[in-house]
Amino acid sequence: MTLLGSYGLFAGLVLLVVARPDLGSQAVPACGICLLWSDLRRDGESPIVLTFLATVVAAVLMARAPENLPVLAAGLLGLWMLAGAQAAHRNRQFADERETLLEQMTLQDQIRDDERDLKYYRSYEETVGVDTRLRRDLSDAAKSLSGTMDGREVQTRLITILSERFPSARVTVVGGAGEDPLLLAAQRRRGPVLIKDARTEAQVVPGARFLSGVAIPMKVMRQAAGFVKLESDKPGAFGPDEVRTADLFATMAALSLENIRLYESVHRQATHDSLTQLHSHRAFQQRLQEEVLRSGRSQTPLALIMLDVDHFKQYNDKFGHQAGDQLLRTLASILSSFARPVDFAARYGGEEFALILPNFVRSEAISVAERIRARVAEEPFTFNGAPTRATMSLGVAAFPTDATTASQIVRVADERLYKAKHGGRNQVVG
Ligand code: GH3
Ligand code: MG
Ligand code: MG
Repeated sequence: MTLLGSYGLFAGLVLLVVARPDLGSQAVPACGICLLWSDLRRDGESPIVLTFLATVVAAVLMARAPENLPVLAAGLLGLWMLAGAQAAHRNRQFADERETLLEQMTLQDQIRDDERDLKYYRSYEETVGVDTRLRRDLSDAAKSLSGTMDGREVQTRLITILSERFPSARVTVVGGAGEDPLLLAAQRRRGPVLIKDARTEAQVVPGARFLSGVAIPMKVMRQAAGFVKLESDKPGAFGPDEVRTADLFATMAALSLENIRLYESVHRQATHDSLTQLHSHRAFQQRLQEEVLRSGRSQTPLALIMLDVDHFKQYNDKFGHQAGDQLLRTLASILSSFARPVDFAARYGGEEFALILPNFVRSEAISVAERIRARVAEEPFTFNGAPTRATMSLGVAAFPTDATTASQIVRVADERLYKAKHGGRNQVVG
Protein backbone atom coordinates (compact mmCIF):
# COMPACT_ATOMS: atom_id res chain seq x y z
CA MET A 1 0.00 0.00 0.00
CA THR A 2 1.39 3.37 -1.02
CA LEU A 3 1.32 6.61 0.91
CA LEU A 4 -1.44 7.86 -1.43
CA GLY A 5 -3.47 4.73 -0.62
CA SER A 6 -3.04 5.42 3.11
CA TYR A 7 -4.30 8.99 2.67
CA GLY A 8 -7.25 7.65 0.64
CA LEU A 9 -8.05 5.22 3.46
CA PHE A 10 -7.79 8.03 6.01
CA ALA A 11 -10.27 10.11 4.03
CA GLY A 12 -12.58 7.07 3.70
CA LEU A 13 -12.48 6.39 7.47
CA VAL A 14 -13.17 10.03 8.35
CA LEU A 15 -16.15 9.96 6.03
CA LEU A 16 -17.31 6.63 7.51
CA VAL A 17 -17.06 7.88 11.07
CA VAL A 18 -18.90 11.08 10.17
CA ALA A 19 -21.65 9.27 8.16
CA ARG A 20 -22.01 6.06 10.17
CA PRO A 21 -20.70 6.52 13.70
CA ASP A 22 -22.11 3.03 14.50
CA LEU A 23 -19.59 1.45 12.04
CA GLY A 24 -16.69 3.57 13.35
CA SER A 25 -15.53 0.82 15.71
CA GLN A 26 -14.88 -1.35 12.61
CA ALA A 27 -12.25 1.15 11.48
CA VAL A 28 -9.64 -0.07 14.00
CA PRO A 29 -9.60 -3.75 12.82
CA ALA A 30 -9.75 -2.48 9.20
CA CYS A 31 -6.58 -0.49 9.94
CA GLY A 32 -5.02 -3.62 11.52
CA ILE A 33 -5.71 -5.63 8.33
CA CYS A 34 -4.30 -2.78 6.21
CA LEU A 35 -1.29 -2.71 8.53
CA LEU A 36 -0.64 -6.40 7.95
CA TRP A 37 -1.26 -5.93 4.23
CA SER A 38 1.21 -3.05 4.07
CA ASP A 39 3.71 -5.16 5.99
CA LEU A 40 3.39 -7.86 3.39
CA ARG A 41 3.85 -5.24 0.67
CA ARG A 42 6.86 -3.94 2.63
CA ASP A 43 5.70 -0.31 2.47
CA GLY A 44 7.91 1.77 4.71
CA GLU A 45 5.62 4.67 5.65
CA SER A 46 2.11 3.10 5.51
CA PRO A 47 2.13 1.44 8.98
CA ILE A 48 2.92 4.76 10.69
CA VAL A 49 0.22 6.59 8.72
CA LEU A 50 -2.32 3.80 9.33
CA THR A 51 -1.61 3.62 13.06
CA PHE A 52 -1.96 7.38 13.23
CA LEU A 53 -5.24 7.24 11.28
CA ALA A 54 -6.64 4.48 13.44
CA THR A 55 -5.69 6.41 16.60
CA VAL A 56 -7.38 9.58 15.27
CA VAL A 57 -10.52 7.65 14.26
CA ALA A 58 -10.63 5.86 17.64
CA ALA A 59 -10.21 9.18 19.48
CA VAL A 60 -13.08 10.72 17.50
CA LEU A 61 -15.28 7.67 18.15
CA MET A 62 -14.45 7.61 21.85
CA ALA A 63 -15.39 11.28 22.07
CA ARG A 64 -18.65 10.64 20.25
CA ALA A 65 -19.66 7.39 21.91
CA PRO A 66 -17.99 6.98 25.29
CA GLU A 67 -19.78 3.58 25.73
CA ASN A 68 -17.46 2.12 23.04
CA LEU A 69 -14.33 3.25 24.93
CA PRO A 70 -13.19 -0.18 26.34
CA VAL A 71 -13.60 -1.93 22.95
CA LEU A 72 -11.88 0.88 21.06
CA ALA A 73 -9.12 1.20 23.67
CA ALA A 74 -8.45 -2.56 23.50
CA GLY A 75 -8.53 -2.47 19.66
CA LEU A 76 -6.23 0.52 19.59
CA LEU A 77 -3.79 -1.09 22.04
CA GLY A 78 -3.76 -4.25 19.89
CA LEU A 79 -3.10 -2.12 16.82
CA TRP A 80 -0.21 -0.28 18.47
CA MET A 81 1.30 -3.53 19.66
CA LEU A 82 0.94 -4.94 16.16
CA ALA A 83 2.54 -1.81 14.70
CA GLY A 84 5.32 -1.97 17.35
CA ALA A 85 6.04 -5.64 16.66
CA GLN A 86 5.92 -4.97 12.96
CA ALA A 87 8.33 -2.05 13.30
CA ALA A 88 10.70 -4.15 15.46
CA HIS A 89 10.49 -6.98 12.97
CA ARG A 90 11.13 -4.57 10.13
CA ASN A 91 14.07 -3.01 11.91
CA ARG A 92 15.56 -6.42 12.49
CA GLN A 93 14.92 -7.35 8.89
CA PHE A 94 16.35 -4.06 7.74
CA ALA A 95 19.44 -4.56 9.92
CA ASP A 96 19.84 -8.08 8.55
CA GLU A 97 19.46 -6.83 5.01
CA ARG A 98 21.91 -4.05 5.65
CA GLU A 99 24.37 -6.53 7.09
CA THR A 100 23.91 -8.84 4.11
CA LEU A 101 24.28 -5.91 1.78
CA LEU A 102 27.42 -4.78 3.57
CA GLU A 103 28.79 -8.30 3.44
CA GLN A 104 27.96 -8.47 -0.24
CA MET A 105 29.66 -5.14 -0.84
CA THR A 106 32.72 -6.22 1.13
CA LEU A 107 32.83 -9.46 -0.82
CA GLN A 108 32.47 -7.60 -4.10
CA ASP A 109 35.26 -5.24 -3.04
CA GLN A 110 37.40 -8.23 -2.13
CA ILE A 111 36.66 -9.90 -5.47
CA ARG A 112 37.56 -6.67 -7.27
CA ASP A 113 40.77 -6.41 -5.24
CA ASP A 114 41.60 -10.05 -5.92
CA GLU A 115 40.95 -9.59 -9.62
CA ARG A 116 43.17 -6.51 -9.68
CA ASP A 117 45.90 -8.37 -7.75
CA LEU A 118 45.60 -11.31 -10.10
CA LYS A 119 45.91 -9.02 -13.10
CA TYR A 120 48.93 -7.35 -11.54
CA TYR A 121 50.59 -10.68 -10.72
CA ARG A 122 49.91 -11.97 -14.23
CA SER A 123 51.50 -8.91 -15.82
CA TYR A 124 54.35 -9.10 -13.27
CA GLU A 125 54.81 -12.77 -14.05
CA GLU A 126 54.87 -11.96 -17.76
CA THR A 127 57.46 -9.21 -17.25
CA VAL A 128 59.55 -11.44 -15.01
CA GLY A 129 59.16 -14.22 -17.56
CA VAL A 130 60.42 -11.94 -20.31
CA ASP A 131 63.25 -10.73 -18.08
CA THR A 132 64.26 -14.26 -17.15
CA ARG A 133 64.20 -15.30 -20.83
CA LEU A 134 66.24 -12.26 -21.83
CA ARG A 135 68.67 -12.86 -18.98
CA ARG A 136 69.07 -16.50 -20.01
CA ASP A 137 69.55 -15.51 -23.66
CA LEU A 138 72.08 -12.88 -22.64
CA SER A 139 73.97 -15.38 -20.53
CA ASP A 140 73.98 -17.89 -23.43
CA ALA A 141 75.09 -15.14 -25.80
CA ALA A 142 77.87 -14.07 -23.42
CA LYS A 143 79.12 -17.66 -23.33
CA SER A 144 78.89 -18.05 -27.09
CA LEU A 145 80.45 -14.68 -27.96
CA SER A 146 83.31 -14.98 -25.50
CA GLY A 147 83.96 -18.61 -26.44
CA THR A 148 86.03 -17.74 -29.50
CA MET A 149 89.20 -15.78 -30.15
CA ASP A 150 88.31 -15.19 -33.79
CA GLY A 151 86.76 -11.79 -34.61
CA ARG A 152 84.94 -13.11 -37.69
CA GLU A 153 83.47 -15.95 -35.66
CA VAL A 154 82.15 -13.39 -33.13
CA GLN A 155 80.37 -11.62 -36.01
CA THR A 156 78.91 -14.91 -37.28
CA ARG A 157 77.70 -15.86 -33.80
CA LEU A 158 76.17 -12.41 -33.29
CA ILE A 159 74.24 -12.80 -36.54
CA THR A 160 73.00 -16.24 -35.42
CA ILE A 161 71.92 -14.92 -32.01
CA LEU A 162 70.07 -11.94 -33.48
CA SER A 163 68.48 -14.05 -36.24
CA GLU A 164 67.12 -16.45 -33.60
CA ARG A 165 65.81 -13.56 -31.52
CA PHE A 166 64.31 -11.68 -34.48
CA PRO A 167 63.28 -14.49 -36.87
CA SER A 168 61.47 -12.26 -39.34
CA ALA A 169 64.34 -9.77 -39.63
CA ARG A 170 67.31 -9.72 -42.02
CA VAL A 171 70.39 -9.41 -39.81
CA THR A 172 73.71 -8.13 -41.10
CA VAL A 173 76.93 -7.10 -39.43
CA VAL A 174 79.17 -4.84 -41.48
CA GLY A 175 82.54 -3.22 -40.88
CA GLY A 176 81.68 0.27 -42.12
CA ALA A 177 78.71 2.50 -42.93
CA GLY A 178 79.63 2.81 -46.62
CA GLU A 179 76.83 4.56 -48.50
CA ASP A 180 74.03 3.00 -46.44
CA PRO A 181 71.77 5.88 -45.25
CA LEU A 182 70.56 3.92 -42.20
CA LEU A 183 74.11 3.14 -41.07
CA LEU A 184 75.25 6.68 -41.84
CA ALA A 185 72.42 7.96 -39.61
CA ALA A 186 73.62 5.67 -36.79
CA GLN A 187 77.18 6.87 -37.37
CA ARG A 188 76.11 10.51 -37.14
CA ARG A 189 74.08 9.89 -34.02
CA ARG A 190 76.78 7.65 -32.51
CA GLY A 191 73.97 5.47 -31.24
CA PRO A 192 71.14 3.20 -32.38
CA VAL A 193 68.69 4.45 -35.01
CA LEU A 194 65.15 3.06 -35.30
CA ILE A 195 63.09 3.44 -38.47
CA LYS A 196 59.48 2.39 -37.82
CA ASP A 197 58.24 3.07 -41.33
CA ALA A 198 60.70 3.87 -44.09
CA ARG A 199 57.90 5.35 -46.22
CA THR A 200 57.21 8.14 -43.73
CA GLU A 201 60.88 8.59 -42.82
CA ALA A 202 62.22 8.72 -46.36
CA GLN A 203 64.24 11.83 -45.55
CA VAL A 204 66.38 9.70 -43.16
CA VAL A 205 66.55 6.56 -45.31
CA PRO A 206 65.94 7.58 -48.92
CA GLY A 207 65.41 4.64 -51.28
CA ALA A 208 65.36 2.11 -48.46
CA ARG A 209 64.79 -1.53 -49.42
CA PHE A 210 63.04 -2.25 -46.13
CA LEU A 211 59.99 -0.93 -44.34
CA SER A 212 61.34 -0.94 -40.79
CA GLY A 213 64.91 -1.18 -39.62
CA VAL A 214 67.39 -0.73 -36.81
CA ALA A 215 71.07 0.24 -37.04
CA ILE A 216 73.39 -0.09 -34.07
CA PRO A 217 77.00 1.09 -34.15
CA MET A 218 79.51 -1.22 -32.47
CA LYS A 219 82.42 0.37 -30.65
CA VAL A 220 85.65 -1.46 -29.97
CA MET A 221 88.35 0.31 -27.99
CA ARG A 222 86.14 3.44 -28.13
CA GLN A 223 86.27 3.42 -31.91
CA ALA A 224 83.56 2.53 -34.40
CA ALA A 225 84.23 -1.05 -35.40
CA GLY A 226 81.12 -1.84 -37.41
CA PHE A 227 77.35 -1.86 -37.42
CA VAL A 228 74.55 -4.27 -36.70
CA LYS A 229 71.59 -3.88 -39.04
CA LEU A 230 68.11 -5.37 -38.66
CA GLU A 231 65.69 -4.97 -41.55
CA SER A 232 62.08 -6.04 -42.03
CA ASP A 233 59.62 -5.90 -44.91
CA LYS A 234 56.87 -5.03 -42.45
CA PRO A 235 56.43 -1.56 -40.96
CA GLY A 236 56.72 -1.28 -37.17
CA ALA A 237 58.54 -4.62 -36.80
CA PHE A 238 60.85 -3.06 -34.19
CA GLY A 239 60.25 -0.83 -31.20
CA PRO A 240 62.36 0.63 -28.41
CA ASP A 241 62.43 -2.75 -26.59
CA GLU A 242 63.82 -4.53 -29.68
CA VAL A 243 66.41 -1.79 -30.13
CA ARG A 244 67.47 -2.12 -26.49
CA THR A 245 67.76 -5.90 -26.74
CA ALA A 246 69.69 -5.80 -30.03
CA ASP A 247 71.93 -3.10 -28.58
CA LEU A 248 72.67 -5.35 -25.58
CA PHE A 249 73.75 -8.23 -27.83
CA ALA A 250 75.76 -5.89 -30.07
CA THR A 251 77.52 -4.45 -27.02
CA MET A 252 78.33 -7.95 -25.85
CA ALA A 253 79.83 -8.81 -29.23
CA ALA A 254 81.77 -5.53 -29.20
CA LEU A 255 83.12 -6.43 -25.74
CA SER A 256 84.21 -9.83 -27.03
CA LEU A 257 85.93 -8.17 -30.00
CA GLU A 258 87.60 -5.74 -27.61
CA ASN A 259 88.77 -8.68 -25.50
CA ILE A 260 90.20 -10.39 -28.56
CA ARG A 261 92.01 -7.21 -29.63
CA LEU A 262 93.39 -6.71 -26.11
CA TYR A 263 94.52 -10.31 -25.95
CA GLU A 264 96.10 -10.03 -29.39
CA SER A 265 97.88 -6.83 -28.45
CA VAL A 266 99.18 -8.33 -25.17
CA HIS A 267 100.15 -11.50 -27.01
CA ARG A 268 101.86 -9.45 -29.73
CA GLN A 269 103.77 -7.48 -27.12
CA ALA A 270 104.97 -10.74 -25.59
CA THR A 271 105.95 -12.32 -28.89
CA HIS A 272 107.11 -9.32 -30.95
CA ASP A 273 109.86 -6.79 -30.69
CA SER A 274 108.48 -3.27 -30.34
CA LEU A 275 111.23 -1.57 -32.38
CA THR A 276 111.31 -3.79 -35.45
CA GLN A 277 107.96 -5.63 -35.14
CA LEU A 278 109.83 -8.88 -35.78
CA HIS A 279 109.30 -11.88 -33.50
CA SER A 280 111.03 -11.65 -30.11
CA HIS A 281 113.93 -13.75 -28.86
CA ARG A 282 111.58 -15.87 -26.74
CA ALA A 283 109.19 -16.50 -29.63
CA PHE A 284 112.20 -17.44 -31.78
CA GLN A 285 113.43 -20.02 -29.27
CA GLN A 286 110.01 -21.59 -28.98
CA ARG A 287 109.46 -21.68 -32.73
CA LEU A 288 112.88 -23.16 -33.39
CA GLN A 289 112.18 -25.97 -30.91
CA GLU A 290 108.87 -26.69 -32.65
CA GLU A 291 110.42 -26.57 -36.13
CA VAL A 292 113.27 -28.89 -35.12
CA LEU A 293 110.77 -31.37 -33.65
CA ARG A 294 108.60 -31.18 -36.74
CA SER A 295 111.54 -31.61 -39.09
CA GLY A 296 112.69 -34.57 -37.00
CA ARG A 297 109.24 -36.17 -37.23
CA SER A 298 108.74 -35.45 -40.90
CA GLN A 299 112.38 -36.17 -41.87
CA THR A 300 112.57 -32.82 -43.67
CA PRO A 301 115.49 -30.38 -43.62
CA LEU A 302 115.52 -27.06 -41.77
CA ALA A 303 117.98 -24.18 -41.99
CA LEU A 304 118.82 -21.22 -39.76
CA ILE A 305 120.49 -17.95 -40.71
CA MET A 306 121.96 -15.74 -37.96
CA LEU A 307 122.64 -12.14 -39.03
CA ASP A 308 124.63 -9.40 -37.29
CA VAL A 309 125.15 -5.76 -38.34
CA ASP A 310 128.78 -4.95 -38.96
CA HIS A 311 130.37 -2.22 -36.86
CA PHE A 312 127.01 -1.14 -35.58
CA LYS A 313 128.62 0.55 -32.62
CA GLN A 314 130.48 2.80 -35.03
CA TYR A 315 127.26 3.43 -36.99
CA ASN A 316 125.56 4.56 -33.80
CA ASP A 317 128.51 6.72 -32.86
CA LYS A 318 128.68 8.32 -36.30
CA PHE A 319 124.98 8.92 -37.06
CA GLY A 320 123.42 8.77 -33.62
CA HIS A 321 121.30 6.23 -31.76
CA GLN A 322 118.13 7.25 -33.58
CA ALA A 323 119.77 6.59 -36.93
CA GLY A 324 120.82 3.18 -35.49
CA ASP A 325 117.21 2.44 -34.56
CA GLN A 326 116.05 3.48 -38.01
CA LEU A 327 118.65 1.19 -39.59
CA LEU A 328 117.44 -1.74 -37.46
CA ARG A 329 113.87 -1.12 -38.61
CA THR A 330 114.89 -1.01 -42.28
CA LEU A 331 116.97 -4.17 -41.92
CA ALA A 332 114.00 -5.88 -40.29
CA SER A 333 111.74 -5.04 -43.24
CA ILE A 334 114.40 -6.25 -45.70
CA LEU A 335 114.67 -9.51 -43.76
CA SER A 336 110.87 -9.88 -43.73
CA SER A 337 110.75 -9.34 -47.48
CA PHE A 338 112.95 -12.42 -47.91
CA ALA A 339 110.87 -14.57 -45.56
CA ARG A 340 108.25 -16.92 -47.05
CA PRO A 341 105.02 -17.38 -45.11
CA VAL A 342 106.44 -20.55 -43.53
CA ASP A 343 109.69 -18.80 -42.52
CA PHE A 344 110.19 -17.11 -39.19
CA ALA A 345 112.14 -13.85 -38.88
CA ALA A 346 113.16 -12.65 -35.40
CA ARG A 347 115.25 -10.04 -33.66
CA TYR A 348 117.61 -12.29 -31.76
CA GLY A 349 118.93 -9.41 -29.65
CA GLY A 350 120.63 -5.99 -30.06
CA GLU A 351 121.65 -5.81 -33.73
CA GLU A 352 121.43 -9.55 -34.32
CA PHE A 353 118.65 -11.18 -36.33
CA ALA A 354 117.66 -14.77 -37.09
CA LEU A 355 115.70 -16.40 -39.90
CA ILE A 356 114.31 -19.94 -39.64
CA LEU A 357 113.80 -21.58 -43.05
CA PRO A 358 111.80 -24.82 -42.84
CA ASN A 359 112.35 -27.34 -45.66
CA PHE A 360 115.57 -25.63 -46.76
CA VAL A 361 118.87 -27.49 -46.99
CA ARG A 362 122.09 -25.63 -46.20
CA SER A 363 122.92 -24.66 -49.79
CA GLU A 364 119.45 -23.15 -50.31
CA ALA A 365 119.76 -21.20 -47.06
CA ILE A 366 123.26 -20.00 -48.06
CA SER A 367 121.85 -18.68 -51.30
CA VAL A 368 119.07 -16.80 -49.44
CA ALA A 369 121.67 -15.46 -46.98
CA GLU A 370 123.85 -14.28 -49.85
CA ARG A 371 120.95 -12.44 -51.44
CA ILE A 372 120.10 -10.76 -48.15
CA ARG A 373 123.75 -9.73 -47.68
CA ALA A 374 123.95 -8.28 -51.19
CA ARG A 375 120.68 -6.44 -50.79
CA VAL A 376 121.78 -4.87 -47.48
CA ALA A 377 125.15 -3.92 -48.90
CA GLU A 378 123.49 -2.21 -51.85
CA GLU A 379 120.76 -0.48 -49.87
CA PRO A 380 121.28 3.28 -49.77
CA PHE A 381 120.22 3.78 -46.16
CA THR A 382 119.42 7.39 -45.47
CA PHE A 383 118.93 9.22 -42.23
CA ASN A 384 117.57 12.77 -42.25
CA GLY A 385 118.32 12.91 -45.96
CA ALA A 386 121.97 11.91 -45.51
CA PRO A 387 123.09 8.65 -47.18
CA THR A 388 124.64 6.02 -44.91
CA ARG A 389 126.04 2.54 -45.50
CA ALA A 390 125.68 -0.70 -43.58
CA THR A 391 126.66 -4.31 -44.11
CA MET A 392 125.84 -7.57 -42.38
CA SER A 393 127.67 -10.79 -41.61
CA LEU A 394 125.68 -14.02 -41.77
CA GLY A 395 126.16 -17.56 -40.45
CA VAL A 396 124.13 -20.51 -41.78
CA ALA A 397 123.48 -23.89 -40.13
CA ALA A 398 121.12 -26.72 -41.13
CA PHE A 399 119.25 -29.59 -39.54
CA PRO A 400 120.01 -32.46 -39.52
CA THR A 401 123.38 -32.08 -41.35
CA ASP A 402 125.02 -29.58 -38.89
CA ALA A 403 122.96 -30.14 -35.75
CA THR A 404 120.10 -32.24 -34.36
CA THR A 405 118.79 -29.95 -31.59
CA ALA A 406 117.62 -26.34 -31.47
CA SER A 407 120.46 -25.15 -29.22
CA GLN A 408 123.06 -26.94 -31.39
CA ILE A 409 121.82 -25.35 -34.60
CA VAL A 410 121.95 -21.86 -32.99
CA ARG A 411 125.46 -22.52 -31.71
CA VAL A 412 126.72 -23.68 -35.12
CA ALA A 413 125.11 -20.73 -36.95
CA ASP A 414 126.62 -18.35 -34.34
CA GLU A 415 130.06 -19.87 -34.74
CA ARG A 416 129.85 -19.39 -38.52
CA LEU A 417 128.69 -15.80 -38.02
CA TYR A 418 131.76 -15.26 -35.82
CA LYS A 419 133.87 -16.74 -38.64
CA ALA A 420 132.27 -14.31 -41.12
CA LYS A 421 133.22 -11.43 -38.81
CA HIS A 422 136.76 -12.64 -38.61
CA GLY A 423 136.81 -13.28 -42.33
CA GLY A 424 136.36 -9.56 -42.98
CA ARG A 425 132.58 -9.03 -42.40
CA ASN A 426 129.93 -8.42 -45.12
CA GLN A 427 129.97 -12.13 -45.97
CA VAL A 428 128.13 -15.41 -45.51
CA VAL A 429 129.65 -18.51 -43.87
CA GLY A 430 127.74 -21.73 -44.16
P1 GH3 B 1 130.61 -6.18 -35.00
O1 GH3 B 1 130.83 -5.84 -36.42
O2 GH3 B 1 131.71 -6.95 -34.43
O3 GH3 B 1 129.32 -6.81 -34.79
O4 GH3 B 1 130.65 -4.81 -34.24
P2 GH3 B 1 129.44 -4.11 -33.59
O5 GH3 B 1 129.80 -2.72 -33.27
O6 GH3 B 1 128.24 -4.27 -34.45
O7 GH3 B 1 129.20 -4.98 -32.32
P3 GH3 B 1 129.12 -4.64 -30.82
O8 GH3 B 1 128.55 -5.84 -30.13
O9 GH3 B 1 130.42 -4.13 -30.32
O10 GH3 B 1 128.09 -3.46 -30.73
C1 GH3 B 1 126.70 -3.66 -30.87
C2 GH3 B 1 126.06 -2.31 -30.68
O11 GH3 B 1 124.71 -2.35 -31.02
C3 GH3 B 1 126.14 -1.84 -29.26
C4 GH3 B 1 124.81 -1.25 -28.97
O12 GH3 B 1 124.86 0.09 -28.57
C5 GH3 B 1 124.11 -1.30 -30.30
N1 GH3 B 1 122.73 -1.62 -30.12
C6 GH3 B 1 122.18 -2.71 -29.58
N2 GH3 B 1 120.81 -2.61 -29.59
C7 GH3 B 1 120.53 -1.41 -30.15
C8 GH3 B 1 119.32 -0.73 -30.44
O13 GH3 B 1 118.21 -1.20 -30.17
N3 GH3 B 1 119.42 0.50 -31.04
C9 GH3 B 1 120.59 1.06 -31.35
N4 GH3 B 1 120.60 2.23 -31.94
N5 GH3 B 1 121.74 0.43 -31.06
C10 GH3 B 1 121.73 -0.76 -30.49
MG1 MG C 1 126.36 -8.28 -32.16
MG1 MG D 1 127.49 -6.22 -34.79
